[in-house]
Amino acid sequence: MAAGEYVSVSSQADTERADLARESKELAANPEQEHAELKAIYVTRGLDEALASNVATQLMQHDALGAHGRDELGISDTLAAQPVQAAMASAGTFAVGAALPLLMVLFLPAFALMWGLSGSSLIFLALLGLIAARAGGAPVIASVTRVTFWGALAMALTSGVGALFGVAA
Ligand SMILES: [Zn+2]
Repeated sequence: MAAGEYVSVSSQADTERADLARESKELAANPEQEHAELKAIYVTRGLDEALASNVATQLMQHDALGAHGRDELGISDTLAAQPVQAAMASAGTFAVGAALPLLMVLFLPAFALMWGLSGSSLIFLALLGLIAARAGGAPVIASVTRVTFWGALAMALTSGVGALFGVAA
């Protein structure tokens, strides 16, 4: 899971880096066309021609790549993908998600152990998925669904393998 998280956010970061590299080349090769491009964006946002041109000029003097990244590509520093943070959050979530159900062993009667453990594991996973989604600014329902689904699948596979070899999972 943590690995998957790293890969998906990394590829997003790679895309953003590639977009910025291309933009930076375009800025060097063709500053006037890039200025016109930025100006046109500000006109569609409601500025008049003269003001849009002025804003584009000043922003490009200040930080041309930053202005194009933000307004043309929609990439900002705060939005920039953070693969390591996402992977850590995901790994942390799963470590805690695995540890909490172990506590249940202490409180559950023997006959209820298997279903009690599976059920509580899924509830903990859903809860942690929710916390991780909140912390990482990800869409909550999608995250909770994904975490719970993969958790349930992993459990089903584990107990299936256990049954095959005659070991209680
Ligand atoms: Zn541009």
